[in-house]
Amino acid sequence: GGGGGGGGEDCCVKVAVHIRPLIGDEKLQGCKDCVTVVPGKPQVQIGTHSFTFDHVYGSTGTPSSSMFEECVAPLVEGLFQGYNATVLAYGQTGSGKTYTMGTGYKDGSQTGLIPQVMNSLFSKMEALKQQTEFQLHVSFIEILKEEVQDLLDPSSLSKSENANGHNGKVPAPGKPPIQIRESSNGVITLAGSTEVSVSSLKEMIACLEQGSLSRATGSTNMNNQSSRSHAIFTITLEQMRRLNPLIPGNSSPESLNEEYLCAKLHLVDLAGSERAKRTGSDGLRFKEGVHINRGLLALGNVISALGDEKKRKEGVHVPYRDSKLTRLLQDSLGGNSRTVMIACISPADINAEETLNTLKYANRAR
Ligand code: ADP
Ligand code: MG
Repeated sequence: GGGGGGGGEDCCVKVAVHIRPLIGDEKLQGCKDCVTVVPGKPQVQIGTHSFTFDHVYGSTGTPSSSMFEECVAPLVEGLFQGYNATVLAYGQTGSGKTYTMGTGYKDGSQTGLIPQVMNSLFSKMEALKQQTEFQLHVSFIEILKEEVQDLLDPSSLSKSENANGHNGKVPAPGKPPIQIRESSNGVITLAGSTEVSVSSLKEMIACLEQGSLSRATGSTNMNNQSSRSHAIFTITLEQMRRLNPLIPGNSSPESLNEEYLCAKLHLVDLAGSERAKRTGSDGLRFKEGVHINRGLLALGNVISALGDEKKRKEGVHVPYRDSKLTRLLQDSLGGNSRTVMIACISPADINAEETLNTLKYANRAR
């Protein structure tokens, strides 16, 4: 860590570990808990390895219930000041990424960071509505095989509602692929993806639910697509703030002093970090594995370049362009944006090798 800067100037990437409990299957197999949390410290031990992070949740660390307040609430606060932000859930398949983010939302469940973000956003907007006008948009996409797919595509919604219950998630004929674009002032936009304007908590939750369903049922084969794709739920907040409230009786236009701010929060459920296993002679699967590694590899490189103050001062190149994932997150990682990575791990001894890999990756991000 560097010297204590002024209040708001946090380091750009915070890293938390979320340890889930042993789950049914692991208990049935008689797995042992192989992850230890050092009491009172954000420190995790596995075998002879020891790592210190900004926070450790679950197991005997801080209860998971404080994760939102400590890690994510400051980012939501920052949105209202115009700062972009990103929350990333990293870890092997089955480690709790989707549970942590809430990207598997259904039936009003309140677990997960995304529903908590929504609650907090709407209560803040309610408190500020006298002096500020708000506009909210959400998008929900998935990056699979270096291609961006729209989880809120209305045509896929109608498919998911058809009689045989299949969601083909086939792009409408002639629909151009979604493209990541960068404007001259460095703002990244997605051309061709659905942006839903929402005006209530209920509408926003409906988007999360629709996309979660589309992600879960969209798979066209037996493989679990969601473990190989990055799912990104993005909230864009636009605000028009009246700096000088109108004085009664004074209706001159000069007294209308307005400030416009726009910021976005990306909530990312990353692809499983386990090494792509090459099964049989399935060349296609292998290619997918390579692409997923490309996103996670590029993300690791970007975050470690951002976290290294020395490198940053020397103006070392940050390799955003190396993958679709980092390209899309470019204006919300580094610079004035805030980033939280949550490394999700299983405590089970059978997962020890992948857990160690996850902790090493997360450690590199600090
Ligand atoms: P991933 O998205 O990383 O593949 P999931 O979020 O689907 O993992 O979690 C795998 C399983 O573990 C699910 O059955 C989920 O309900 C359970 N699980 C994950 N995290 C927790 C937690 N903190 N507490 C209880 N159960 C959890
Ligand atoms: Mg998942």
